[in-house]
Amino acid sequence: MSYIIGSPCVSTCDTACVHVCPVDCIHGPIDTTGMGAEVAGMSKEDLEGKMLYINPDECIDCGACVPECPVKAIFDSEQDAIEAGEEEFVHKNYEFFGLKFIN
Ligand code: SF4
Repeated sequence: MSYIIGSPCVSTCDTACVHVCPVDCIHGPIDTTGMGAEVAGMSKEDLEGKMLYINPDECIDCGACVPECPVKAIFDSEQDAIEAGEEEFVHKNYEFFGLKFIN
């Protein structure tokens, strides 16, 4: 199980979540190992369509990121995201790290 970042993050990429994650498993929007630092150099136009992702193999389900997100983009689990109509983003989070989500 993993926490999942969903659609409200798209074109937002606030990085508050990155700074509180105890295992540094939130990455993107481009660098799969960086911690969102590249967001600082991006304009609003650059951020269009981009988002951050949680590495499902590394997330320890602590929940620290959830209250930090200003757009409430983080779901407690794959199942919660799916129930909210965000299955597409479950796959996106996995695929960003070269993983495959199997329901
Ligand atoms: Fe990181 Fe915890 Fe959020 Fe998982 S639930 S992404 S470990 S802060």
